[in-house]
Amino acid sequence: MITIASRLQAVRERIQAATAAAGRPPDAVRLIAVSKTFPAEVVREACQAGQHAFGENYLQEATSKIEAVSDLPLEWHFIGPLQSNKTRPVAALFSWVHTVDRLKLAERLSAARPDALAPLQVCIQVNVSSEESKSGCRREEAFELADAVARLPRLRLRGLMTIPELTSDTALQRQRFAALRQLKDELVARGLELDTLSMGMSDDLEAAIAEGATMVRIGRAIFGPRRPR
Ligand SMILES: *Cc1c(COP(=O)(O)O)cnc(C)c1O
Repeated sequence: MITIASRLQAVRERIQAATAAAGRPPDAVRLIAVSKTFPAEVVREACQAGQHAFGENYLQEATSKIEAVSDLPLEWHFIGPLQSNKTRPVAALFSWVHTVDRLKLAERLSAARPDALAPLQVCIQVNVSSEESKSGCRREEAFELADAVARLPRLRLRGLMTIPELTSDTALQRQRFAALRQLKDELVARGLELDTLSMGMSDDLEAAIAEGATMVRIGRAIFGPRRPR
């Protein structure tokens, strides 16, 4: 029987192999399990198999799920498109937001982050494929946005995130991920302390790790095909 524990183990082995192949330290890459569309019991099962960081895309779905497993020691990452009027619950429920792509959103998250919690950790989402339809700021916008986000009191800017176009062309996958890494290096050279590259999903985690991913966001390879919402 294929269990979540065995699929998690297989994903960990893929991550380990890719990390070793890239000559990077064994703990260089963190696994974020993307549990969107799956119920709380599935999160519980993954937690029993040793997984503690989870990603969610939809606020409404995440709110009840996080509540249902609030007895577990989990870290929640918001990885979906975020509207400015939804920032208050996100700033209260999540430890990380990977999808900051405009200043207004960052300002609202900072203002809404409860004082009792540590600063909200954020990544700026960048569109490295320049597709009209994809969210994320443009490469050229990232510099000004990063400088401004880094100054917000209740946020901690950790790095960059991207979702490139779907392609099975591994050279193109690597080109996109390399573009995000180069952008992070440029921002670090300007004086920002960034340590995170959130990139790589079920089908392209090897390419992302080869190009320096520090967090991969994996859904289907752990949980199977997504359920209809
Ligand atoms: C759904 C989603 C993932 C997980 O994708 P899989 O292909 O299922 O691994 C990762 N990142 C984001 C932003 C997502 O929306």
